[in-house]
Amino acid sequence: MALATPGVQGLHPYEAGKPVEELERELGISNIVKLASNENPLGPSGRAMAAAQAALADATRYPDSNGFGLKRALQRHYGLAANQLTLGNGSNDVLELIARAFLNPGDEVVFSEYAFAVYPIVTQACSATAVVTPARDYGHNLQAMAEAITERTRLLFIANPNNPTGTALMRDELVAFLDTVPEQVIVVLDEAYTEYVDQADFPDGLELLPRYPNLIVTRTFSKAWGLAGLRVGFAAANPVITDLLNRVRQPFNVSHLALAAAEAVLADSDYLQRSVELNRAGMQQLEEGLKLQGLGFIPSFGNFITVDVARPAQPVFEALLREGVIVRPLGPYRMPQHLRISIGLPEENDRFLRALRQVLAC
Ligand code: PMP
Repeated sequence: MALATPGVQGLHPYEAGKPVEELERELGISNIVKLASNENPLGPSGRAMAAAQAALADATRYPDSNGFGLKRALQRHYGLAANQLTLGNGSNDVLELIARAFLNPGDEVVFSEYAFAVYPIVTQACSATAVVTPARDYGHNLQAMAEAITERTRLLFIANPNNPTGTALMRDELVAFLDTVPEQVIVVLDEAYTEYVDQADFPDGLELLPRYPNLIVTRTFSKAWGLAGLRVGFAAANPVITDLLNRVRQPFNVSHLALAAAEAVLADSDYLQRSVELNRAGMQQLEEGLKLQGLGFIPSFGNFITVDVARPAQPVFEALLREGVIVRPLGPYRMPQHLRISIGLPEENDRFLRALRQVLAC
């Protein structure tokens, strides 16, 4: 039998949780609260739903492979040109396109300890070599990352804010770092959670693009824009990189429904504002509740918070599950005492806090 490439043979499939309905059946409980995948608890934008519904009428046709309408909306919204944009089936798709376009077997890819789980997957799938740098305070240690760059380094991933730790890099340190990166190293700045950050010194990667020809910024509609189930994200980069990414992109990789909904939600600034406000209030609620329970957490800039439960987290995760609250254990990240909790609706956050108090008391 034909063997997969060495990189693929060493991979393990991504372990997604069971569907909520299936868990409810298994555990014999209803109304499970899922705070595990950094989804938007607000429900989709009404405008996005109406646009997706209308797009169903074209379901017999292939989608617009170039995503003309969405690119035009992105141009208006962010001031980017169409030849700087690559659309993806979620930003995970875009991360994979980047790896496929640029990595040869044996090339080195630098990313940090506690970085997003997809970076090692796309690296290894291309039989490239992951160079994992030690974190600083659970975030990126840019000095260590700069020192890890060699002649063989081709890509470097930074998530800002980072998932699963929620840490963020500010503009000055990021720019000082980018200034030191050799041009042949492509820096991927993954800004999946950028909309949640309102600090004045937080960088906007899109504004940095003109200054760095080796920079790719990735964004998603899955988080603050509330369209995770439709799968749409994009990369913004200079036209030369964009041309290469589009060469490896599957035609029709983003569905009609996703294109239409993303275009519509970009015009729904109220929705974005409500998402961000709900998140801010929920973050405060969780921080206060955790402090009351005497638990430490990593201050987060995203739509989730990573909590130190000060004991092995896996049994806590399982006990929370039995209480009907799904969160994310971070054992695979070698954070065996941490759980990541996505910010939910006020009543969902409350339910989590009450369940946690009960579980930790046992
Ligand atoms: N980057 C980061 C840092 C993420 O946390 C996620 C989602 N968990 C993604 C990218 C991918 O999101 P999507 O494919 O839904 O756009």
